[in-house]
Amino acid sequence: MLISMSATILDGRATRATLIPGLLEKIAALTQTPTLVIIQLGDRPDSRAFIKAKKSFAKEIGVKEKHIKMPEATSEEEVLQVVQAYNTDPTVQGIIVQLPLPTHVDADKVIEAIDPKKDVDGLTSFNMKALADGQGTVMLATARGIRELLDHHSISLAGKVVTIIGRSKLVGQPIAAMCRAAKAEVIVCDRTTADLVKETQKADIVIVAAGHPGLVTVEHVKPGQVIVDVGITRSADSGLVGDVDFDAVKDVVGAITPVPGGVGPMTVFALFENLVDLSV
Ligand code: NAD
Repeated sequence: MLISMSATILDGRATRATLIPGLLEKIAALTQTPTLVIIQLGDRPDSRAFIKAKKSFAKEIGVKEKHIKMPEATSEEEVLQVVQAYNTDPTVQGIIVQLPLPTHVDADKVIEAIDPKKDVDGLTSFNMKALADGQGTVMLATARGIRELLDHHSISLAGKVVTIIGRSKLVGQPIAAMCRAAKAEVIVCDRTTADLVKETQKADIVIVAAGHPGLVTVEHVKPGQVIVDVGITRSADSGLVGDVDFDAVKDVVGAITPVPGGVGPMTVFALFENLVDLSV
């Protein structure tokens, strides 16, 4: 008889719910309620959804937010001026520039313009370096969210082999830096990796951030593994989808994050933890 074992679902919403009281205590101890500024250019549907999630969580935890919506054609110069204005505004503790930006604006330049002390996303090179050195106040929100989701389920990164699929500067690489800082042995794969199955089969934990639905299938995984799906793709018929064939993979592995409801809610939570830490 074949027995199909179902994996532990690493539920980001439930985990976040248990962590919120601790964050509320930290907010209550601050001398002023933090304010987050979200700068958006244009009106991409995916950005709209991510911003909505951030605004609704800000409301839930009683943090102030200011949504600065600018036309898609706004010049780089103008965006830089707005960032600069909030850098020097003492009533604002955090600044997010919602990515991706239109192609006529250099995203790297805009990110670098954010004062690292207000960089709640942890994307400036100053904060990225701090993450790589295992120091600093803030850490890329997605990386912090993943670390806390694993911690909450008593899954340690130390001494584990972690295979990360995705090597982007703003997602894959900082996640790799977080795992190395947590003393994991890290393998990073990307589109050029010759044998992805071989690399994922070596892992205790697989973290997928490729933006390629259905990339990770049963052949990539093995019993007992932990699968963290960072990918988010908006599909017309099935809504938000991750990079993992969830329904098939969950019957093989030990633990897995769903999409939606896994890394996403934890990323939003970590963003506000970063805001609170920068407000102290
Ligand atoms: P990107 O396109 O900049 O980088 C994708 C990376 O994955 C590249 O290194 C690429 O080589 C690799 N890759 C793509 N297809 C692959 C394949 N078939 N095999 C092996 N490697 C492959 O994307 P990004 O900005 O890094 O985002 C990745 C995904 O993470 C997207 O779906 C994005 O929406 C999602 N994301 C989620 C969160 C969250 O909080 N959950 C946060 C940020 C980004």
